[in-house]
Amino acid sequence: MAIPSDMPQGETPDVVTGAGRLTVDLSALRRNYRRLVQAAQGAAVAGIVKADAYGLGAVPVAQTLVREGCTSFFVAQLGEAIALREALGGSAEILVLNGLQPGAEELAYRAGVTPVLNALHQIAAWRRLAHRHGQRLPAVIQLDSGMSRLGLPPEDAAWLAAQSDGLDGLELTLVMSHLACADMPDHPANDAQLNTFREIAGRFPPARRSLANSGGLFLGPDYRFDLVRPGVALYGGAPHPGADVAIGVGNPMEAVVTVEAPVTQLRTVPAGAGIGYGFTRRAERPMRLATIPVGYADGWHRSQSNCGAALWQGRRLDFVGRVSMDSIILDATHAPDLQPGDMVELIGPGRSLDAVAQDAGTISYEILTSLGSRFQRRFVDPQGARP
Ligand SMILES: *Cc1c(COP(=O)(O)O)cnc(C)c1O
Repeated sequence: MAIPSDMPQGETPDVVTGAGRLTVDLSALRRNYRRLVQAAQGAAVAGIVKADAYGLGAVPVAQTLVREGCTSFFVAQLGEAIALREALGGSAEILVLNGLQPGAEELAYRAGVTPVLNALHQIAAWRRLAHRHGQRLPAVIQLDSGMSRLGLPPEDAAWLAAQSDGLDGLELTLVMSHLACADMPDHPANDAQLNTFREIAGRFPPARRSLANSGGLFLGPDYRFDLVRPGVALYGGAPHPGADVAIGVGNPMEAVVTVEAPVTQLRTVPAGAGIGYGFTRRAERPMRLATIPVGYADGWHRSQSNCGAALWQGRRLDFVGRVSMDSIILDATHAPDLQPGDMVELIGPGRSLDAVAQDAGTISYEILTSLGSRFQRRFVDPQGARP
């Protein structure tokens, strides 16, 4: 159907044409960064912007953090690093957590991005590149202090540290490691990893040290070293998501992301009516149902069938039946005044990211990185500098 020519086109920013509205509050991001700088007590605060800044948009996020004085950014992959360097220009260091695939060294060098060196073969390749260019290159070494994922195993690190020429051609700029259980402050692995990191890092020449992600930053001063690496906390996720955090208690960070969706249709069904694919739910009484145009294709995973919720005017509207690809059915029995076009809150002031994650049986990280491309995204900066 053609759009009638008298319809205003391109001038209706509030018209929802997709799954709903996704708002990223850059002022809140900035306040979170400042809060982390304060909590870091003198340690530098890097910005972890891997996976498109956890789905929020790596470029606007990094640009905002640069203006706050952030000079180090971590991404996961070389492709992300190159794209970020092109967008940012400038002098901020951009580090690739996963390191490089063999043969990618020259590309990284030309883009001015630095790989995290996780294995002896990566160190050897980076040294060969330095030799070819007749230039000392920055070296960032990751130690595996107990997580068994990335980084030099203790025996390789010990061997390397014992070589007098093991880092020839390189300028060691950072020695780092990563905590497996930093979101659980009482877990004994934290102390064990801290001790292992201290011991092994101490064998290397003096360089900045870094151990803490968001959770680690809040484990106390011993964990902060010279540089901390928060990701999820920047974006409003709880550094230590306990049972209370999901209901909005105990998270020192401010919400950055809001997701709202419009009601597309309302109906009243009699007791016994089947609801959604597979009839995983039947109306146990006459029910008022509202449908919204958001589904698993937008990041509201099917695991939230019959257990997720939206919020409207302080009222919780439970997901009933299966989450479909493009729609979710809400129980609006207790919201008799809800109308088509009304916006319900999927993530926002009344429905925290961690609450959504808990209902979905996952973590805030996965909710954020799953946010789909069909939301109309807007970046707002209510406290931003105006020209
Ligand atoms: C993802 C990641 C971070 C950031 O973790 P958060 O828990 O989001 O703060 C820090 N360091 C490394 C090595 C990572 O992979």
